[in-house]
Amino acid sequence: MTGSSVAYWLGENPDFDGTVLVVEPDWTYASAQTTRAQNSIRSQFTNPLNIEMSMFGMDFIEHFHGNVEVDGESPQLNFRGTGYLFLADDDEAYERLRAESVDQLAAGAEVAMMRPAELAERFPYFDTSQVTGGRLGGMREGSFDGWAFFQGIRTRALHRGAVYVKDAVVGIDVAAGRARTVRLASGRTVDAGWVVNAAGCHARDVAAMVGLSLPVEPRARTSFVFDCRRPIDAIVPLTITPAGVHFRREQHHYMCGAVPDQDDAVAVDDLVARVDEFEELIWPVLARYVPQFDEVRVVTSWGGQYDWNTLDHNLVIGPSAELENFLFANGFSGHGLQQGPAAGRAISELITYGAFRTIDLSPLGYHRIASGSPIRETALI
Ligand SMILES: Cc1cc2nc3c(=O)[nH]c(=O)nc-3n(C[C@H](O)[C@H](O)[C@H](O)COP(=O)(O)OP(=O)(O)OC[C@H]3O[C@@H](n4cnc5c(N)ncnc54)[C@H](O)[C@@H]3O)c2cc1C
Repeated sequence: MTGSSVAYWLGENPDFDGTVLVVEPDWTYASAQTTRAQNSIRSQFTNPLNIEMSMFGMDFIEHFHGNVEVDGESPQLNFRGTGYLFLADDDEAYERLRAESVDQLAAGAEVAMMRPAELAERFPYFDTSQVTGGRLGGMREGSFDGWAFFQGIRTRALHRGAVYVKDAVVGIDVAAGRARTVRLASGRTVDAGWVVNAAGCHARDVAAMVGLSLPVEPRARTSFVFDCRRPIDAIVPLTITPAGVHFRREQHHYMCGAVPDQDDAVAVDDLVARVDEFEELIWPVLARYVPQFDEVRVVTSWGGQYDWNTLDHNLVIGPSAELENFLFANGFSGHGLQQGPAAGRAISELITYGAFRTIDLSPLGYHRIASGSPIRETALI
């Protein structure tokens, strides 16, 4: 998503007069996070920059056809605006959600606080005796076809002239404070004016090629799709319980996941689904909040990884003081699909104009990594 979004925005910008090469070893994208995501978008973050980036992602989705069409055709996104529902199970948690909602509203997000009686009216399938309330987002939050989203952007980037090569970056030569030559596994070398690190969970290895450290590590996340014997006949927003278990409707089924109890770094090629999580961690929580979920059957599951920024769980974007033409776009920590359009546009601005032009993402720069100064985001899923 990130690499293709950068290529997309450069291709769309008449002020950019260079050429774009996207290096990707796996054209099936089978092990990329992009194809293992749960494909949702929200404005309920606690950091205003995350809110702004995701709201731009939603604008992009709203105008998706025009944004990506090639010869009048575009993939069907099938966006479903259900909102996200963050639940609280005590007064302190409710108050925290409420305080966050003030900033979210100020940033233009659509959110509403609800007490149990209102939740019961809106979502009659809930056992609201378990909660003190919740915060519900509007119709500009929801889920979509992530593959269509990515393919639309990639196809348009190709149409505008980006070249994709099936290869892997194995080294980057640096001289006089600039990244100069990218070395590929095939033996080919490419001289580059700019190099963008869009390597997802491999980003730390690519940063190491230019001698920079990046605190981004793979963290295992398993997704489950399940069937319910007594289906819910009402809207099911993407619901986040206080224990961190989340679920939503996925067409005729439901999709869910959780933060594992042991959340350590895993090997970058470890994409094994942790299937025991469903019975041990997730199902008891699901059934507590939604009694109908006491009779469910897992239809499928898959493993994936977050590119987890251990400093502050936020994107790292832009150059370092050491190398002005090596740009990071890494560490999305679980929200990089929806922020792909904003991150790609931001990188294209740095390349074309030398500065951010739309959303000023400089607070999310590498300098905070170098100085160990986190920018907090607490609404993590
Ligand atoms: C379970 C799960 C659920 C998620 N749900 C959501 C969600 O609901 N909403 C949301 O916004 N985000 C979600 N995300 C996060 C989102 O999927 C990622 O943030 C986003 O896809 C990151 O895109 P990327 O292009 O940066 O990384 P990736 O998609 O991982 O792509 C990186 C690419 O770099 C390539 N690469 C690696 N090393 C090299 C190299 N040396 N040379 C050349 N190429 C290389 C890889 O092959 C890969 O294709 C979820 C993630 C997971 C795992």
